[in-house]
Amino acid sequence: MENKKNINVDALFLGPKAENEEFFLKNLTKMFTEHSQWRKNFHPEDGDVITSTRARKESFIDTQCKTEEMLEELSCKLRSNMMPWHSMRYIGHMNTDTLMASLLGYFAAMLYNGNNCAYEGAPATTILEGEVGEDFCRLCGIDSDTGWGHISLDGTTANLESLWYMRNIKSIPFAIKKVAPEIVEEMTEWELLNLSVKDTLDLLEKVPDKFDKIKNNSARCDANLITKLGKLLVPKTKHYSWLKAADILGIGGDSLIEVPVDEHFRMDITALKSIIEETTSKNIPILGIVAVVGSTEEGAVDHVDKIIELKEYFRKKGINFYFHIDAAFGSYCRSMFLDEDYNFIPENQLKTKYKEYEVFQNCEAINWPSHDVYKAFEAIKEADSITIDPHKMGYVPYAAGGICIKDKRIKDCISYFANYTFEKGMDIPVLLGAFTLEGSKPGASAASVWAAHKVLPLNISGYGKLIGASIEGANMFYDRINNQKTFKVLDKNITVKTLVDPDFNMINFAFNIEGNTDLKLMNELTHGFYEEASFCTKLFTNEFITSHTILSRDEYGDSPLKFVNTCGIPEEEWKRIGSVSILRATCINPFFSDEKTFNEYNEKISKAIVNDLEIVLKKLNQNNLLN
Ligand SMILES: *Cc1c(COP(=O)(O)O)cnc(C)c1O
Repeated sequence: MENKKNINVDALFLGPKAENEEFFLKNLTKMFTEHSQWRKNFHPEDGDVITSTRARKESFIDTQCKTEEMLEELSCKLRSNMMPWHSMRYIGHMNTDTLMASLLGYFAAMLYNGNNCAYEGAPATTILEGEVGEDFCRLCGIDSDTGWGHISLDGTTANLESLWYMRNIKSIPFAIKKVAPEIVEEMTEWELLNLSVKDTLDLLEKVPDKFDKIKNNSARCDANLITKLGKLLVPKTKHYSWLKAADILGIGGDSLIEVPVDEHFRMDITALKSIIEETTSKNIPILGIVAVVGSTEEGAVDHVDKIIELKEYFRKKGINFYFHIDAAFGSYCRSMFLDEDYNFIPENQLKTKYKEYEVFQNCEAINWPSHDVYKAFEAIKEADSITIDPHKMGYVPYAAGGICIKDKRIKDCISYFANYTFEKGMDIPVLLGAFTLEGSKPGASAASVWAAHKVLPLNISGYGKLIGASIEGANMFYDRINNQKTFKVLDKNITVKTLVDPDFNMINFAFNIEGNTDLKLMNELTHGFYEEASFCTKLFTNEFITSHTILSRDEYGDSPLKFVNTCGIPEEEWKRIGSVSILRATCINPFFSDEKTFNEYNEKISKAIVNDLEIVLKKLNQNNLLN
């Protein structure tokens, strides 16, 4: 394709009404036919094994019937009880239609059933995974010659892998002290615990023949070391996969310190600084810091740039730690900031670029990104590692997570087998499974992610345009809610408020009855609405489906207070009840950016909202909860 600015989102998906059915089917058939030919063409001198005579047996026909009947049953189950993510009436979890390119790529590669654990199990798809790893690096601003990336099962395993890196790397200076004391002779225990990632890896390079022995004396084998490694700092908005990771790796939940977040639900940098100071003043080291880019509940983007500054500040004081970014949700959004050569676009040129590439249909109406968000995305390149989920904002089918590391030597700290050779001339391990948490893994998901990246490069000309459509839809939805004075339902006026000005494409909101100051009642109204507008009831006839979450004081401190106040609830109520129910709408569907479509569905959804609120009010009335 010559004109790289010519990506049309309408041609990327099967479509809410399967509008691109013919195109999809044509290519599905093509990939299947070519696979069949491939089977036949391998040694054409070999004849059929399942001969016509064998295929005429009664048992053969019965077996075919059994498969067909199963398919009928399966289809019924799927059509009657799966979430209609594809619909314009679904604005809930991080899920929507997936790219045709990736579905077709998945299907094609699935027929070949490659196992990317080892190169010899799947030469073609292993190479594709290597290329995807390079794409991940480019996306994050990491040099793919010195960095590395791979596809993981999901964001949870990517996060687990990053903590595995942190744990082993932090313990390696102790192992060196044991195995090769001559190279760390002068160092105190505190200095060993505060070596930077780079210095640790450099030390390892000095004693290549002792590398395996050192690894075998690290936290991998010496469990006593784990208790010395210090605290892992995560924001209150952390995904619960961090709890799982700490549990599995023996770090222990007690070693996690949750850093408070501000009113934007971003990690509070002042609090972070004092936690580091307080912890290290007690001679407890910092194992690592995790920032979140696109928090799971709010889409909030932590101040990555300020954390980098803080890291530098502490480095000068001899305090070093690993820095990971959990960008499972937000990583692909970095495409919005990269030009076609993957250079980070200067802030004052963003608007012009968005116009040039028609990233937004109505550029003037959009005030995204904020300066904070811009700076955070720019600084992602400084992290030691980054979690990336293609199966979220990459619009590819499950299961596809990913991780990328700034210094590829990091992966040697978790690898198994002494022989970590790479296939000649390429940057792909012969045994990928030796460097990753997963063993056997589908070549199909690598093909699927690769296919998506091929059609949509990870920059402004590709994913930028798709994610731009999602952000534009989110902006329209946000404005729509904020312009809504009240919904008139029965004899009440129902107000609706948004949680924050979104950093990304997640819009959280809650209802209240005008004049109501009782937080319990407000929560019952919002939660009652969720029950009507969710999978809980009448899935197939539902006119609007969303998701929800609860922000509690235990988890978030007083960060939600400002929002609760905006809804008309006083502070004493917040303190008394201690949690607020909110609706959570991930505006990931790119088709809302078209004004006509937006208006059409906005009308349908508004009607559905009033209907659902009416049901909830009636229920509250029956239970004498309304005055
Ligand atoms: C979704 C998410 C995860 C977990 O990813 P999975 O692919 O669901 O395992 C981790 N962190 C964040 C911030 C997420 O949004």
